[in-house]
Amino acid sequence: MDLNIRTYKVVKCVICKTYQMTSAKTTFKCIKCQKTKPLKKMTIHYESDNPQKTTLALQKIKKEDFKQKNQKEDFDNLDDFSSAF
Ligand SMILES: [Zn+2]
Repeated sequence: MDLNIRTYKVVKCVICKTYQMTSAKTTFKCIKCQKTKPLKKMTIHYESDNPQKTTLALQKIKKEDFKQKNQKEDFDNLDDFSSAF
């Protein structure tokens, strides 16, 4: 059995939408909003037994997410701008 092998996962809190790393196996506790959720119900964006790799993956996911959000906001602003005329 591989019960002693720790795996690190990148998950996104469904409540506050914060991406974070966890080594939890069954229940995830959010570092931001402190809510607990069963891991089964969460989307795992990355998983590895290597914490460094997982940290890098988390940074990458956060960066991509930030980029997407910013692009979306740009489009929203454009919509506001054009509908003002
Ligand atoms: Zn949260």
